[in-house]
Amino acid sequence: AAAGSGVHRELLARHRAVLPDWLALYYAEPLEITHGEGRHVWDAEGRRYLDFFGGILTTMTAHALPEVTKAVAEQAGRILHTSTVYLDRPMVELAERIAALSGIPDARVFFTTSGTEANDTALLLATAHRRSNQVLAMRNSYHGRSFSAVGITGNRSWSPTSLSPLQTLYVHGGVRTRGPFAHLDDEAFTAACVADLADMLGQARADVAALIAEPVQGVGGFTSPPDGLYAAFREVLQQHGILWISDEVQTGWGRTGDHFWGWQAHAAAGPPDLLTFAKGIGNGMSVGGVVARAEVMNCLDANSLSTFGGSPVTMAAANANLAHLLDHDLQGNARRVGGLLLERLRAAAAGLGVVREVRGRGLMIGIELVAPGTDTPSPEAASLVLEAAREGGLLLGKGGGHATAGVLRIAPPLTLTVAEAEEGAAVLEHALRTAESALAGGQTA
Ligand code: PMP
Repeated sequence: AAAGSGVHRELLARHRAVLPDWLALYYAEPLEITHGEGRHVWDAEGRRYLDFFGGILTTMTAHALPEVTKAVAEQAGRILHTSTVYLDRPMVELAERIAALSGIPDARVFFTTSGTEANDTALLLATAHRRSNQVLAMRNSYHGRSFSAVGITGNRSWSPTSLSPLQTLYVHGGVRTRGPFAHLDDEAFTAACVADLADMLGQARADVAALIAEPVQGVGGFTSPPDGLYAAFREVLQQHGILWISDEVQTGWGRTGDHFWGWQAHAAAGPPDLLTFAKGIGNGMSVGGVVARAEVMNCLDANSLSTFGGSPVTMAAANANLAHLLDHDLQGNARRVGGLLLERLRAAAAGLGVVREVRGRGLMIGIELVAPGTDTPSPEAASLVLEAAREGGLLLGKGGGHATAGVLRIAPPLTLTVAEAEEGAAVLEHALRTAESALAGGQTA
């Protein structure tokens, strides 16, 4: 039913009455998406949208990718689910592929059903291995909604409660263009963050378990540190025996274009001790997981199972999706098409007071919006652009922490074509101009 129609209003009212208030809904008239194909989705009214948010990065390759649909249907026709207490061929196959791709030596893979659960497991492993519940996380980070993941998330909307099971210390460096070191050049910025970390560790208890970090902060507004920051951190971490967990839930699988994993932008650091993934690998099916060296993975003295992690139908989807990604060099596509899109968007934003920065890597592009002529983050501008882009048939994401609120997030399926990038950039340019003039005119929409 059309946005604003009686049927649509009724569904919205029922949603609001029965689901939590903290479940975010985009748009003044939230969308009901009922169909998808390639880089497009359709709403219940039959209106088509170019999807620049990939279902929040869950659609890695394309909506309704035929190989994935076929693999899921075939597996569903045999058996939907068994359990990890039995041998699971698709799970073993996917684990072998991911272990080889991870760069982690002697890697073991454990499958979960979400990014939250993947990080929760990584924290469990790291704290058990180090016998400490003290961890380091980045300011402005986001790692999920479980008790432990909330406890380390630095983003204000999920700031830790005093009841967190983990003691968390927050590290500078995830946000390049705001904060106390923003005015420094890359080298000095990195040196300042490293000195701050070393100073903090000097004062902390000696047994910090791990640093968890997103190579490019996702929810925090697609911000990344200078290349090599985590390599520099690692030297300090290793002096203290602290493990490095790279949260690749948004940055994995070639999305950043130049690298298959986000951690590779810091390659001197070598692979992380633990790596977590989720979102796009299942192309819409719930697949997450954690990769770790055998020594870390096997530190638990447990005899356990994962009821739904590694479920054959989700593994079949992920195997088909990953094969498509590798066979079609979608990392290369992310680099090429993402580079062009970044260029177009920078040109579109030139001269607009509402845009503070257009930044990105591959098909992970952020546009930071501010109240025109100021440095003040503007969630209001982001909402205006989102509504205008939707009118133009384009879906975008929003993000940003307390310092960066009001960032547009662009993360289309990795099969995005040049023509689609250009079409989306044109709609976005118009939407940015619409927001600029609405804000300049003092209107609020
Ligand atoms: N880590 C990162 C970097 C994320 O972006 C997210 C989801 N936005 C999560 C973890 C949590 O994943 P999920 O929503 O699948 O639990």
